[in-house]
Amino acid sequence: MIETGVLIDIYGNVLAWHEPDGRSGGSLPDSPRLWDLIWRYHEAKVLLGFAHSHPGTGPCMPSREDTTTFEAIENALGRSLHWWIVAADGGPIASFVICTRTPIGVDENPMPLPIAQHNGWMVYQMLGSFPSWVYELRHRSKVTDRCTACGKPVPTQGAPFCSEHLKDQALRQAWEEL
Ligand SMILES: [Zn+2]
Ligand SMILES: [Zn+2]
Repeated sequence: MIETGVLIDIYGNVLAWHEPDGRSGGSLPDSPRLWDLIWRYHEAKVLLGFAHSHPGTGPCMPSREDTTTFEAIENALGRSLHWWIVAADGGPIASFVICTRTPIGVDENPMPLPIAQHNGWMVYQMLGSFPSWVYELRHRSKVTDRCTACGKPVPTQGAPFCSEHLKDQALRQAWEEL
């Protein structure tokens, strides 16, 4: 699995993927390009927030580095953003949270359920149907315990495909070129 990020607009659409060199299963470096994009979309008044993936299967907590970064960006912009974290392993259920310093309304969809306070941040688990970018984020993060093609569990941890799809040369090539 490799951590991946994405900027989301106020309509819930993807603005830009963040897939910098040097990202891994344990870290997602920020970059001057990411900051430029955040600033540009903020100025255009279309930015809602930033999502990134973590390894693991359950609800993800932000790391200390995450909350430090979130705070620095919010302070620079003078406003709060939505900071989602998507677990990139395991099933899609119970794996999508949002971190915020300002409480969220319960009328949002997916519905946020407060589950933790972490480094001074509220963490909400998102329930209900997930936006389509969640699935693409997991895909781009190279989820490795389920077949990328059909969603069945894989025979060995780390394999991107089930035994059936592993035989598909074209699929494997597309995966390696991601
Ligand atoms: Zn993180
Ligand atoms: Zn499969």
